[in-house]
Amino acid sequence: MGFFKVLKGEKEGHLYPSCLLCGNMSFGGICRRCLRGVEELAEPQIDKKLNLLYFFQYKDIEPIIKAKYHPFGNRVLEKIAPVVFGKIAKNPFPFPVVGIPIDPVPYRGFSHTAILARHLPFPLTYGLKAKERVQYSGKDMEFRLKNLRKFTYSGPRGIRGVLIDDLVTTGLTLKVASQFLEKFQVEIVGSIALARG
Ligand SMILES: [Zn+2]
Repeated sequence: MGFFKVLKGEKEGHLYPSCLLCGNMSFGGICRRCLRGVEELAEPQIDKKLNLLYFFQYKDIEPIIKAKYHPFGNRVLEKIAPVVFGKIAKNPFPFPVVGIPIDPVPYRGFSHTAILARHLPFPLTYGLKAKERVQYSGKDMEFRLKNLRKFTYSGPRGIRGVLIDDLVTTGLTLKVASQFLEKFQVEIVGSIALARG
């Protein structure tokens, strides 16, 4: 689904900006009605095994997660993030933590993890970057294990951190990132994502 739809009938061929979810006309990437729907659907949930806080099942918000591949996807994420992460009013940990978005490097013009991270109630470091971009979407476990993500880190040492990502599927990236960060005396105390796949 794209942001632009072609009008049928008389004006066929004329493009108009549309809501990513319902296809109605919208200049912001997502219409007010759908944004309200997303807010109602957002429910903080915990995956104890992964120590992960998330808000949606991937299948329920797939077009939103895929907005990162769209040149104007930042508009949607900028609207979604405060509505969803606004449900965490303050740092839920009984000690200070630093938010660490996974690979906050602009890709197609913006970084989806950086946009999400800005709407969390933590100070942030943008120091955790992927060495190369491996596309994990749609790949099986064997591929993921053979192509473990490699990182570099330039953020502060000796901190407690929370990893921030848009989608967690296997949890492998979180595991690799937290093990890697141990070398820098960064203790990962939990992770936050929009959706669990
Ligand atoms: Zn809509």
